[in-house]
Amino acid sequence: MKNIAVIGAGTMGNGIAHVFAQNGHHVHLIDISQEAIDRGISTITRNLDRMISKGKIDESAKATTLKNIITYTELSKGIPNTDLVVEAATEQLNIKLGLFKEMDALSGPGTILATNTSSISITEIAAVTEKPDKVIGMHFMNPVPIMGLVEIIRGYNTSDETTNTIMDLSIKLGKTPTKVNDYPGFVANRILMPMINEAIETLYHGVAGVTEIDTVMKLGMAHPMGPLQLADFIGLDVCLSILNVMYDGFKNPKYAPCPLLANMVMAKKLGIKSGEGFYDYSKSKKAETVSSQFK
Ligand code: NAD
Repeated sequence: MKNIAVIGAGTMGNGIAHVFAQNGHHVHLIDISQEAIDRGISTITRNLDRMISKGKIDESAKATTLKNIITYTELSKGIPNTDLVVEAATEQLNIKLGLFKEMDALSGPGTILATNTSSISITEIAAVTEKPDKVIGMHFMNPVPIMGLVEIIRGYNTSDETTNTIMDLSIKLGKTPTKVNDYPGFVANRILMPMINEAIETLYHGVAGVTEIDTVMKLGMAHPMGPLQLADFIGLDVCLSILNVMYDGFKNPKYAPCPLLANMVMAKKLGIKSGEGFYDYSKSKKAETVSSQFK
């Protein structure tokens, strides 16, 4: 597992690239947008600087980590000669299916094809490839350099060999891999997203305001972040996509996304990444100011 391609340099992709590069792997970071790559590299640099200021790494580890990352805007250049591809592109089925077809064609027969999807079927993604035994879910948590869990999702045809390789690799990255089966939302989001959606419903029905809902869950349930702040942090478009996958997959109205969430995504209020969601991030990323829509 020397050369690893990471597709997508957004919220998750840059964190995944950071962790692999810091652990000595050669990373090919690929995104269709040069702007996303530039943003991703500056996020990695900022996070490495933060680690230096906390005494966790030194300057030479930062330099080696950055040197281990090469960037590409084309899959055809970044995928060949890699042992593992981790896809962390936008959470949309058609995008993932198209990418996996290309990843399959451009990679060698031994290359493992992993996806960081939050909810989409690994089995469905694997079915568009010629090597479904080599396709697996490797679901990192946000922020990747800090969070300890990797949810490992076995598709219907994922082999034991692929699963064991990815479990071992995750341990070598300093993470705790946890094996789950392939059903919509897996475990993490099947439990988390209904809570976030219910928090949005609570706001939508006027039961309480943004600050009050988050305060109840932070102080009352000892959550480090309230559910509305967490939704902003994840990205409201990502939350909506995950809920839609679970709603379609289970045919159960309990997963139906709140209309307020759908409206906010249509209005491009996506949370931290767009500068506004339930909170306003124009002055600080710390969720100190509630969005003017909810004041
Ligand atoms: P994001 O919107 O921040 O980034 C997605 C990136 O993918 C963008 O930079 C975009 O330019 C790029 N992209 C889109 N199509 C592409 C293509 N065809 N080729 C190459 N790059 C392409 O999204 P994100 O939050 O980083 O989510 C990425 C994946 O990680 C999704 O599957 C999501 O469900 C999953 N995930 C997200 C979180 C989270 O907290 N945001 C947590 C765990 C898993």
